[in-house]
Amino acid sequence: MIIDGKKTAAELREELKKKVAELRSTHNAVPGLTVILVGEDPASKIYVKNKEKFAKEIGMNSEVIRYPADTEEKVVLNKIKELNEDKKISGILVQLPLPKHIDKKKVIETILPGKDVDGFHPMNVGNLSSGYDSSIPCTPLGCSLLLKKAEKNLSGKHAVVIGRSNLNGKPMTQLLLKENCTVTVTHSKTKDLKAECLRADIIIAAVGIPKLVKGDWVKKDAIVIDVGINKTDSGIVGDVDFDQVSKVAKAITPVPGGVGPMTIACLLSNTVECFKKLN
Ligand code: NAD
Repeated sequence: MIIDGKKTAAELREELKKKVAELRSTHNAVPGLTVILVGEDPASKIYVKNKEKFAKEIGMNSEVIRYPADTEEKVVLNKIKELNEDKKISGILVQLPLPKHIDKKKVIETILPGKDVDGFHPMNVGNLSSGYDSSIPCTPLGCSLLLKKAEKNLSGKHAVVIGRSNLNGKPMTQLLLKENCTVTVTHSKTKDLKAECLRADIIIAAVGIPKLVKGDWVKKDAIVIDVGINKTDSGIVGDVDFDQVSKVAKAITPVPGGVGPMTIACLLSNTVECFKKLN
């Protein structure tokens, strides 16, 4: 089974479009997403453009605030404080990476947890790991929804997460624990990654190394979710060797067309959820 992220994301956006229309009639208001972009990082510019496009497509209000790379930290922090107070704004996202002179931690901590659609604020991170209601980082949330396409009941499954970043590996681990999986978290210092993967019913690869996970690393009938987006001479590839692994696994996400499209759809979903809680 090839898990189609493009189709799943389009279905989720369609659902959200209906929810936004409902909110318009019940609340006489719609969710509003503000993205702050500092600098000229080419990948960030594309991500931000897509976020704005899809937000508008589902009927949300969407605004991008663009600052030059040499903008002072306090300008960004003051803007966030202003947006925190603005009743029309339900979601605030500061596009990462930030220029070096701006303290990422300070920026994330300034966003009101209730408007933190990326789920990076320590309050949301803590709530997620305590099993309480929280904003969930968009890419792991997208991975969970794709996993559910392949297997409804994940209880008791052995999941191996490759990578322990705050963005992907760590929140993914929490989501799998919430689903009653037994989770092994692996990283760059793991001794025998192949042996760990061979024990897995579920593999989540979020590493950033092209085609790291090979066909003989994967148990027959495993589900493999590939988060990686790696630029190579032969185009964009994931962290999983798709040609090899798709012959062994029960289900797999392709790259592109797997996790990638889910990330923005989940951002929109988080914005709708924040709106509901704030209102
Ligand atoms: P990161 O660099 O922050 O973290 C990588 C992790 O991989 C680290 O925890 C490190 O310990 C681990 N690692 C490195 N080498 C390893 C090895 N040989 N064996 C096992 N673990 C190893 O990366 P990230 O931000 O989590 O991103 C990971 C990948 O996901 C990248 O390719 C990135 O482009 C992609 N990504 C995709 C999306 C999406 O929407 N699909 C979103 C964010 C990131």
